[in-house]
Amino acid sequence: MVSRVIPVEPFDLVIFGGTGDLARRKILPGLFRRFRAGQMTPDSRIIGAARAPLDADAYREMIRQGIEEFGGPESKDSESLAAFLDRLDYVSVDATVEEGWPRLAALMRDGVVRAFYFSVAPSLFGPLAEKLHEHAIADVDSRIVVEKPFGRDLESARALNRTLAEYFREEQIYRIDHYLGKETVQNLMAVRFGNLLFEPLWNNHYVDHIQITVAETVGVEGRGGYYDKSGAMRDMVQNHLMQLLCLIAMEPPSRFEAGAVRDEKLKVIRALQPVPVHHIVRGQYDAGDGHPSYREEAGNPRSFTESFIAIRAEIANWRWAGVPFYLRTGKKLKARHSEIAVVFKDLPHTIFEGDHARHRNILSIRLQPNEGIDLTVTIKEPGPGGMRLIDVPLDMTFSEALGQEGQDVPDAYERLIMDVIRGNQTLFMRGDEVEAAWAWTDPLIAGWEARNDVPKLYDPGSTGPDDALMLLHREGRRWREIKA
Ligand code: NAP
Repeated sequence: MVSRVIPVEPFDLVIFGGTGDLARRKILPGLFRRFRAGQMTPDSRIIGAARAPLDADAYREMIRQGIEEFGGPESKDSESLAAFLDRLDYVSVDATVEEGWPRLAALMRDGVVRAFYFSVAPSLFGPLAEKLHEHAIADVDSRIVVEKPFGRDLESARALNRTLAEYFREEQIYRIDHYLGKETVQNLMAVRFGNLLFEPLWNNHYVDHIQITVAETVGVEGRGGYYDKSGAMRDMVQNHLMQLLCLIAMEPPSRFEAGAVRDEKLKVIRALQPVPVHHIVRGQYDAGDGHPSYREEAGNPRSFTESFIAIRAEIANWRWAGVPFYLRTGKKLKARHSEIAVVFKDLPHTIFEGDHARHRNILSIRLQPNEGIDLTVTIKEPGPGGMRLIDVPLDMTFSEALGQEGQDVPDAYERLIMDVIRGNQTLFMRGDEVEAAWAWTDPLIAGWEARNDVPKLYDPGSTGPDDALMLLHREGRRWREIKA
């Protein structure tokens, strides 16, 4: 089965920070893939913008190298690559000075979608919004895409929302969280709301608990300076893990439409309970096996910042009362592995002999490395020897049946950028959602800061500190395996 690619409207997309790491590694290789798939019309243009004094040819060369390095096998298609690079232009502008802006204004065309990607440090979001307004580069239908981090607490997020609101309506602001752009995350919604099967079970009568894990093998490396002021809670939980939690826990929206979906997500965040101290485990990776410690990498020998966090969260509403949501994320762990697991309850009674408590249905939504959804079900072990039961995963992604193996499935960034052009905000965070998420995380952070809480050390390549295991063990549960 071949998927249909519907071209989006012609656009002018300006990427501020167009020479930066994110632009070269993710945004432009992603756009090239959409171009190659026929989703980007030939009359669309991408304009890189940064302070570096480059001309358009030098910028195209920089991006060609980026795509060849990070763009996967598609980058070997030199004909398409040359045609794509032809769509590129470059303007040298500084977000904080006047120079260069009239040239950018002159480049913008009427009659096409205007989108502006803020792939720069958050301190520049406000100045960029102001310049776009001052020079009349953005019109009333223009869209801006804002990268993370969106603030570092409730107060700064509110201030940023207020600044952006001076120049743009909420309908023009796309706060990006690339976890929401993943194929599987959208498939989660299709599976949940497109089938009768799951929704009746999706509550505290049938679900024992839910686990959300985002494990990374990398350390903080070159990002130590930024990360040490942030930590796993701000860098990962407040945005990515909470967004995943919302999609799992929200009530069915009345329509698959931005306002309806985001209203339901917001209700989940607002229903999150304060977390007691003994339901939070913070960790920091130690040195080991030739790896430097977190403190060495962050260049701060007295750092109390967490590179790992596990939280037992609860949602106070009728659907989820009494169901723990275990969240964990960390760096330098055993494997790169992101998964949401819905663990259903034990059978009320088993008619089979032996230990069947472990035969639980588990719906596992894997985000990386191998995106997919599977449902663990119990069946009879085939063959002679009586009634022995085994657990097998039912692959609900059905990639073979759908003929998608090796097919061009857009990655998160490219899908989300196309949504911006289409004007679809469903998979982007609304201002009030971001603020509500900070309102939940702020007191937890303030709590451990006030206690001078020292994170527990853990070995690189492990599953995190032992205390995180205890968070589940003491309730008779255990974490899912972190595996590649
Ligand atoms: P980066 O590599 O440091 O790039 C920053 C870009 O901003 C460069 O193109 C730089 O070019 C430009 N810039 C700096 N000061 C400027 C100014 N005054 N006016 C105009 N342009 C300016 O950063 P990055 O890693 O690409 O990250 C960009 C944003 O994405 C950040 O908000 C980051 O938190 C977020 N993000 C990045 C990643 C990632 O994987 N890299 C992942 C998630 C989120 P010039 O120096 O030439 O001006």
